[in-house]
Amino acid sequence: MKFRYIIAGAGITGLTIAERIANVLGDDVLVIERDRHIGGNCYDFYDDAGLLIHKYGPHIFHTSDKEVWDYLSEFTDWRLYQHKVLTFVDGQMLPLPICAETINRLFGLRLAHNEIDAFLDSIREADRPVNNSEDVVLKNAGSVIYEKFFKNYTKKQWDMYPDELDASVISRVPIRTNDDQRYFTDTYQGLPRRGYTEMMHRMADHPKIHLLLGTDYQSVLGEIEHERLVCTAPVDAHFGYKLGRLKYRSLDIRFETHDGDFQPASVVNYPNDYDFTRITEYKKLTGQQSDRTTISFEFPTWEGRPYYPVPTPEQKALYTQYKALADETPDVVFAGRLGEYRYYNMDAAVASALRIFQEKLAR
Ligand code: UDP
Repeated sequence: MKFRYIIAGAGITGLTIAERIANVLGDDVLVIERDRHIGGNCYDFYDDAGLLIHKYGPHIFHTSDKEVWDYLSEFTDWRLYQHKVLTFVDGQMLPLPICAETINRLFGLRLAHNEIDAFLDSIREADRPVNNSEDVVLKNAGSVIYEKFFKNYTKKQWDMYPDELDASVISRVPIRTNDDQRYFTDTYQGLPRRGYTEMMHRMADHPKIHLLLGTDYQSVLGEIEHERLVCTAPVDAHFGYKLGRLKYRSLDIRFETHDGDFQPASVVNYPNDYDFTRITEYKKLTGQQSDRTTISFEFPTWEGRPYYPVPTPEQKALYTQYKALADETPDVVFAGRLGEYRYYNMDAAVASALRIFQEKLAR
């Protein structure tokens, strides 16, 4: 067998690059995927109750990058959806990100929006230098909010407290003084109308894209003549862990189906109670009408399928060594959350894939 391009991994990164190779370069490309399905961690499917669920946890698409939105819109229509999250603190379900209503209800106040700034100024550590995720919250919102909303959620999610994690992790969740209760404020937000898997099938639907599912690329690479490999698999695994293992945080996701409705929002976080981080009710994300409902509980773990690179100084340093190895291997291009060891959102993964295609593959 012979292909000019091989891609390891049929997630959103691998399929974006495959689609570009087929449609722009007009070349054949072989995509090798270890799962028996495409889609990577964006994979969704209809469960036994007929409800569309996200097998690897809730995925809400959001971007302010028009190029990315327009690109994916070639493969899907959108259910326009603005994500909202509640978080269970002190027995109340409060809006997250922290906003005017969260502050008023938490502290039993009735401050107007223009008074929230001054109140936050009175509780936050404005002069605190920012070196890690704990500093971000203490600086912007102070210790009460840090303790109740962030400290224990982060410990569950990452098995470490925020002071060990890069500032970028908690900075994903802003502190607001207005009453915008949306989780994201990007210009374009939604879910693919018929699901992520369907969208990605359309990306892969090209006679020059060949899919090999249920196969570890490393076990067949030697038998397939090729010029370039795009690796969206974990970079340390590609190099046989020769510099040591990078850490990846995983999730044990447990699903349940109930009659009726389950909770007042599509996602409810539980920073301080239970061992799971959050419960997702999928029909509230997808808009599907049903008299039943499927929910998932996320239990973070170090075992199993890689979900998150771990943003600590130690992991960054180890990744830098792997990156140097990668740079010495120009016939292999590393891409995506696992290939670049970066906590990409879906839109950033697509943007990076389009950039990598332009800079490293298109010529
Ligand atoms: N986080 C938190 N409390 C919350 C939600 C988030 O402490 O209620 C922190 C936690 O460290 C988490 C990070 O903020 O890993 C980023 O949250 P996000 O919702 O973006 O995580 P994801 O959806 O990617 O798992």
